[in-house]
Amino acid sequence: MSRVAYVEGQYLPHRRAAVHIEDRGYQFSDGVYEVIAVEGGRLIDEESHLDRLERSLRELRIAPPLSRRSLTIVMREVVRRNRVVNGILYIQATRGTAPREHAFPAQNKTALVMTARQTDLHRERLAQDGVTVITIPDIRWRRCDIKSVSLLPNVLGKQAAQEAGAFEAWQIDRDGFITEGTSTNAWIVGRDGLLITRSTDTAILGGITRLSVLDLARRNGVEFVERPFTVGEAKAAREAFLTSTTSLVLPVVRIDDAVVGNGKPGSLTLKIRDLYLAHMAGAPAPHLG
Ligand code: PMP
Repeated sequence: MSRVAYVEGQYLPHRRAAVHIEDRGYQFSDGVYEVIAVEGGRLIDEESHLDRLERSLRELRIAPPLSRRSLTIVMREVVRRNRVVNGILYIQATRGTAPREHAFPAQNKTALVMTARQTDLHRERLAQDGVTVITIPDIRWRRCDIKSVSLLPNVLGKQAAQEAGAFEAWQIDRDGFITEGTSTNAWIVGRDGLLITRSTDTAILGGITRLSVLDLARRNGVEFVERPFTVGEAKAAREAFLTSTTSLVLPVVRIDDAVVGNGKPGSLTLKIRDLYLAHMAGAPAPHLG
């Protein structure tokens, strides 16, 4: 089936979809993005993603490309035209095309691009076996709370993980605390059974999956704390997992050479994954046993 991309007001065949070589996203990474999961044709946590997109744009002083209402219409149209039932929607907005000068152009129009594709986000095999992560120094800038398309450190980190045969790389700040993965948020279950994830500051992206998991934990009586945790703590943790729009909730069973818990996905992790899957399915969340 032929894919369709939305590019600055037009629906184009994916293979011919392009922006100008002087698009500031291309030249300066001067843009932001969102990835939204589609399940059963529905956009998961749409409002939270749109809130974050608006915030990212505001922080970088990029004008919104469309009103929120128009944006949601285009989003649905892109999903529909690509016949995506289960998969992802990608949205990117850059400061547009202008002669190459670092400072903002006096006149410009925000360039909006969207694509969608069918893909299996559940990856039950990975959920059953768990995944491994390596740790790397966090070499990113100090505004990781903005979902910018400037992802070079993340690209290098993910590549290092792949070359090490791992699923993800958890980044470590100068004080020895884990910030987050290259495209996922990091979680552990401490020795005392307490769920821990880093508080949202400018050192991490406020993941929408993270937000939903915290909400599910709250509503299901799972005790948690939002605070930084060290690599040592993570390696000695009872359980570990990661979250993102495309990974959902995946158990982490090894961090570098340290086996987490008994080397199998933890029970709280799997319960949280079940709660999250139920949330995605739109069903009332089952209560934790
Ligand atoms: N951290 C980073 C650096 C990411 O790129 C992502 C994925 N966008 C996440 C965390 C997870 O965020 P979300 O749950 O919104 O996908």
